[in-house]
Order: sequence, then C-alpha cells, then structure tokens
Amino acid sequence: RRLPYLAVMDLLVIFSAILLDPDLWFPMTIAALAATSIGWLLSVRVALLLAVISTAGVGITGLVTGADAAFATTALYGVVTFTLGLTNGSLYEQRTKAARRITELLDSVPVLLWEADIADARLTYVAGHVERILGVDAETWSTMSPDDWLHPDDLDAFDVDWDAHVDGEPLEHEVRARRGDGTWVPLRQIVRPVRVGGRLLLRGVSQDITAEQRAREAVHQYAEIVQRMHDGLIVLRHQVVDGRDTLRLLRWNRSAQELLRLTDAHRDLRFRDVLPGIARDVHRQIDGRPLARDGGPDGLTGTEIPVTLGADARWVDYELFRVSETAVALRISDVTSRKETQDLLRRQATHDHLTGLLNRVALVEHLEAALAAERHVGLLLLDLDQFKEINDTLGHHYGDRVLSILARRFSRLEGVDLVARLGGDEFAFLVDEVRDLTALEHLAERVATVVEQTIGIDDLSMRVGPSIGLALAPEHGHMADVLLQHADIAMYQAKRLGRGHMAYRPADDRHTLDRLALMAELPNLLAADELRMWFQPKVDLRTGRVAGVEALMRWEHPREGLLVPDRFIELLEVSGQLTEVTWVALDRSLSTVARVDPGLSIAVNIPARALHDPDAATRILDRLALAGLPPERLHLELTEREIMEDSTSVRAVLDDLRGAGVRISIDDFGTGYSSLSYLRRLPVSEIKIDRAFVAGMLQNDHDFLIARAITDLGHNLGHRIVAEGVEDEATLELLRSMGCDEAQGFLFARPVPPEQLAEVIRRIEDRWGTSVTRPRRTVGRP
Ligand code: C2E
Ligand code: CA
Ligand code: CA
Repeated sequence: RRLPYLAVMDLLVIFSAILLDPDLWFPMTIAALAATSIGWLLSVRVALLLAVISTAGVGITGLVTGADAAFATTALYGVVTFTLGLTNGSLYEQRTKAARRITELLDSVPVLLWEADIADARLTYVAGHVERILGVDAETWSTMSPDDWLHPDDLDAFDVDWDAHVDGEPLEHEVRARRGDGTWVPLRQIVRPVRVGGRLLLRGVSQDITAEQRAREAVHQYAEIVQRMHDGLIVLRHQVVDGRDTLRLLRWNRSAQELLRLTDAHRDLRFRDVLPGIARDVHRQIDGRPLARDGGPDGLTGTEIPVTLGADARWVDYELFRVSETAVALRISDVTSRKETQDLLRRQATHDHLTGLLNRVALVEHLEAALAAERHVGLLLLDLDQFKEINDTLGHHYGDRVLSILARRFSRLEGVDLVARLGGDEFAFLVDEVRDLTALEHLAERVATVVEQTIGIDDLSMRVGPSIGLALAPEHGHMADVLLQHADIAMYQAKRLGRGHMAYRPADDRHTLDRLALMAELPNLLAADELRMWFQPKVDLRTGRVAGVEALMRWEHPREGLLVPDRFIELLEVSGQLTEVTWVALDRSLSTVARVDPGLSIAVNIPARALHDPDAATRILDRLALAGLPPERLHLELTEREIMEDSTSVRAVLDDLRGAGVRISIDDFGTGYSSLSYLRRLPVSEIKIDRAFVAGMLQNDHDFLIARAITDLGHNLGHRIVAEGVEDEATLELLRSMGCDEAQGFLFARPVPPEQLAEVIRRIEDRWGTSVTRPRRTVGRP
C-alpha cells in the first residue's frame, strides 16, 4: 500500500534533480523510464534497483560535475538518495517479515498451495506441506502431470468450463491424491481460475482431510448402527414453554418408526401425547420432579409397558438416558412376543387346556387371595356321576365334548366368581362373598340344574348328574387346602349317599380319617392274613335247594373288628391292591367250596380290572384245576357298571373263560345303563337283579316293573335270573311268580364264615326244599 506513495516521492526527487541540474537528466530519465515500464507495483526489488541506479546516478553525476558543481547540490542529492535507500530498505524488511509469516501460517495448516496452467495442466507454482501430504518433495510434484497423482475417477473434477468461473465463487471438491508410497490421501480442494496476461491459471488450496473423513465415517457408521439397531431409538428434546416443561420428539431411527408407526407428523409432538404409557411410567418413577431438572432423567428403565397403536397393542421395555444438556434418548425394545409367550405360558399354567376354564393352580391362587383378604368365600366341588361310562362307551372324544359343553354352561352361571376344572370330571366354583350356607346351597342347586340339562352331541342325547360338596370360609376352614379338602369330603359324602349336594360336616372327617387309617393298614390284609371269605347261599326257586354260594370278602381287622367290603374295597382299588387281593379271595373261595360241597356252584366277585391281564383266563382255569372243581362250577360276578366301562378290554378274556365252561354273571343289574342288545354280545349266562329293585318291588311299581322287565328280557336272551337282597317271603313269592330262577338274601341266610356254611345250607334246604328230587348231599367239614 505504500508503494504509490513511494512512487510519488521518487518522481518528486527525480524531477527536482532535473530542475536543479540539467546534467542529471540522462541517468534520471533512464531510471524513471525503467521504473514505469516495469511497474512500481510489481516488486520491492524494482524499487531497490531504482534506488541503486539513482544512487549510482548521483555518484556518477557528482564525479562528472566535479569541482565546478556546487557542493550544496551534491550534498542534497546525497541526503535524498540516502533517505530513499533507507525507506526502501525498511520496506523490504517488512515484506520479508510478512512473507515469513505467511510461510509459517502455511506450515501450521496441512495444506498445499498450487497454481497450474490449464493449457498444459502443469503445475506452475507449489507451496505448503507437499512433502508431508503427498510424500514427495515440491520439486518432484511440480513436474508431475495430474494423471500421475490424481485418482483417475477424480480427474473429472477438473473437467470444468473454467472460463465461466473466473469471476465467480471458487469451486470446491474432494479428490484423492496418490502419495509417493502409492497410498491415497483424501484432499479437499478450493480452486479459483484466474486469468493472467491471457493465460488461464488455476490457483488452488488442497487440504488433507484424512482425519476429517475418518471422523465423518465414524459418525456415519454410528448413524448407520442407530438406524439399523433392532431397538427403537428416539431423541427427545427438552422444551420449557410458559414455565411448563415438556419433552418433544426430535428424531428417531427406523425401528422406532416401524415399531411405533411414527411419521413426520409426530415430529415436535409431546412425548406424553405420543407415548402416554411410557410417559406415565417415567413420571411415576421421577415422582413429580420436573423432567428437565439436571439435564433430564437418566438411566430410567421400565418393562412391559403397553403402547397402543390403533387397534394393535404391543409391549415394550424402555430405557431413558441423557444425551446432551437439552436432549434425552429413549431406547425401546419390542417385547410383545416375549410377553405373549409369557402370558401364554402363564395361561397354560393357570388354565385347563380342554375347556379353557381356570385350573387348580388358579383356583388355589384365587382362594388364597380371597382368604387372605378375609372374605367369606364359598367353595363348591363338583364331580360328575356317570362320566366314566360316557367316556368308556362313547369314547374319550365324546367325554371331552361333554366336559366342554358343561364348561360353557358353567361359565355362563351368574353369581359365581370363578369356575375351574380340577381335572377329569371335577369342577370347582368359587363365590367371593357368600352370605351363608343357604345361599351356597341355592347355587349348588342351580349348578345341578345346569348339569342335568340334556346334553346333545351329534344324534345322541345324554344326561349326567352331579355330586357337589360345599364348604364355606371361615366356618369350614381358613386355609385354601383345608377348605378344598373339606369340600372334597362333602362331595365324597354326597356321592356315597347318592345326594345331589352336601355341605361339609366336621363329623364326616371322622369317616375320612378312618379311611386314611385303614388305607395305611391295607397291606396287613394279606401280610397279616386278615382276609376272610364268607359265603351266602343262593337258592334255586324251583327246588328250594341251595344251588350255590357267593363268596363275600371280610377284613378281620384287629382293632375295628370284622369289616364289610364297603369299608375297604374302594381303598384297595384306589391303592391298586384290589387285583392281588381278588386272586387270593378266588383261591380261598375255591378251596373252601371244594371242601364243603364240590357240587355247589361258587360265585366270586371279580373286578373288571383283574381281567385286564391277558393271562387272567389261564390263571383262573389253573386255579379251578388246582381246587379240583370243573369250570362250570365257577360263576364270575362282574358288575354291570364295570363291564360297561371296560367291555372291550375284558371281552376276550370273558370269551375264553366262557369257552372253557366258566359262567359269567352280571351283578347289580339295573343300576348301569347297558342296553340289552349290547348285553347280547357278551358271553353272559346269568343276570343278578340289583338288590335295590328287589327291596323296593313290593312298595314301588317302578322297581317291580324293572325287576320284571329284567327277568323277561334276560330269559329271552337265555340267561338265568337271580334276585339278590331278598329279605321277606312276600318278595320271594313275587319273584317266584315272575319266573325268577334263583334268590339270595337274608331271608335264607346272611353271609356266614366257612365253618357255618354246611349247617346253614342244611337249614335252608330243610325249610325251603319242596321235593326230594335231588339226593341229599354229603356235606364235608370245613
Ligand atoms: P354284591 O356283590 O352285590 O354282594 C351282595 C351284597 O349284598 C353283600 O354285601 C351281601 O351281604 C348283601 N346282601 C345279601 N343279602 C342281602 C339282603 O337280604 N339284604 C341286604 N341289605 N343285603 C344283602 P357285602 O358282603 O357287604 O358286599 C358288598 C359288596 O362288596 C358286594 O356286593 C360286592 O360288590 C363287594 N364284594 C364282596 N366281596 C367281594 C370280593 O371278594 N371281591 C370283590 N371284588 N368284591 C366283593
Ligand atoms: Ca356279587
Ligand atoms: Ca349285587
């Protein structure tokens, strides 16, 4: 900037010299011409040159003018020239300093400075960190053509109509340059075309952006990770509006967008409005503290929070953490399927698979909760009465459908807080607040009505009846298991006594306890030889003679005395010992009868289960042979109920036995539901009318009709008919008139131990024997 000033100074000096001494004209004019033609502005060196020339000019002029020239003139020139030289010198100094500063500046930034001629693409000027950035020295670089050091794909960057850019903004682009060692270095170039004396030059600054590019890549990678993250990520911005502190949705990744169906319309909406479930949970945790306090909540988490999206309900786990002074991030993971699986598992654990009702686990849970809250809980335990028959005659499929139908009816019942299926044909009903036992009994009646309604499946319609036990808390216990046990006892009593429903009575416990005690002593029955066989005669009604005996089991219990089968048969069955005991009973019965009177038939009660053993027939026949009795003497009594329940598996064994001559007798006939056509397919030779009908025959038309129908139909099928439980002569007469073949009952004799059998038989025949068509038997001693 100082140069124009200097130029004026120089011109002034030159012109004043010319004015004062014409002898100076020539050298001064040459210097001035030289200066103007080169241009003052160009360089300090020119100025210096002028100073030298003018100083030399002064010297020469001084010499030339010599002694006759005025000393004052010479001195003035000397001073002026010196001043001029001094000024130029300091100017030069400043310039050099500035240049050094620029060089230092350049040194501290990793850039290259260059200039190139577009015409031949040669570098005309290079400066900066050539060595450091490109790994070659400036000299080498400046001789290289762009093809040598620019990445081939980046050459296009220079394929520009530079002319058009001469006065415009500089162009900026990124290129890769090959370093001396062959590796590539990324450069950002700022290039400006300039026109200098008709030549088009490019001046550029290239910056090494390796570090920046790495950082950029890292950021990009993070962004990519965030985008691809399986979890949803939402950045929420704090905003305080009117002193109210809100979080608003700022940005989110793809997962969040998909999971929460976020759209651009959600941007800037309030967190609380978009995700109320999570917001509530967060607020609950920060307990009313302002959200923005201390830079926002950090490290809050929540699990299985429902988020509702339209009709869709999903569950998420979330984590809220601070990312900056003004923003928090919300990470959410979709745990819907985990929750659904858990719920499913929980459902499976607490529900009955078949009926969809709750199960025992759930019942106990509810019961315990209700009891803990000291509520007056009522419990109903229901067991179906003829379910096994349905299951066995029609198949499990039908049984299942019956249960499902009942379950549906149960779940529609009003006034019931919980219905559960406990397994098999057992259901439970819970009433949370029950007034008294009467209220519970009313419910039991309603339940019974619902059960007893006809069940139609396909073309079949059937009916079942319930036995219901009732228990009440706290009267009947305040623990879930106690209450359940008591309801169970009541239910068992209801079943035993053939009542629809019964409430728990503490006295029944006695019975239950007795059962348990006996159960524990069952093994003694055989081990301690406490099993006894008693016998009851069966009388032929035509002859009045004893045709045979029925063997009846007794347990000679050391403490309880002689126990009848009703007390322990069920226990044997439950504990799985009935079959074993049955074989022992058979053996003893056969040997006793063989001793007492081999001419008598011997009826032995056989549980159908004992015939499941495929070897059962062989086994029975072997025992007969061992006792020396012909197979015809043995009558196997199977109850109608059992044979119906078990027909298929037992059928083959019965056929074998019948084939060998053994008689099959259907016991307790009339209590089951067998069709006679079904009975025809079984190898039956005798039917025993259940003693319930026999006992009721005289008073009750219905019983009489049934007894007569059984007799008629049985005869038609070629079976003998035996009436059991005959206690009086009137009944005996009625049976005789109906054409019944045999009778058994207290009228003739109660069951007696073997040692009394012969005597009892003799007494019966003495009294009832009508003719002497049969010779008197030889009766041996037991
Ligand atoms: P069940 O086969 O129907 O046996 C007849 C039952 O009727 C016997 O009872 C007998 O004592 C009783 N009874 C006979 N006449 C009369 C009468 O005139 N009036 C009345 N009220 N009852 C009469 P018990 O001996 O108590 O046997 C009961 C049941 O136990 C039997 O019924 C039978 O099902 C079963 N049972 C008895 N012994 C055995 C056995 O050795 N093995 C198997 N598996 N069950 C047996
Ligand atoms: Ca019997
Ligand atoms: Ca019977």
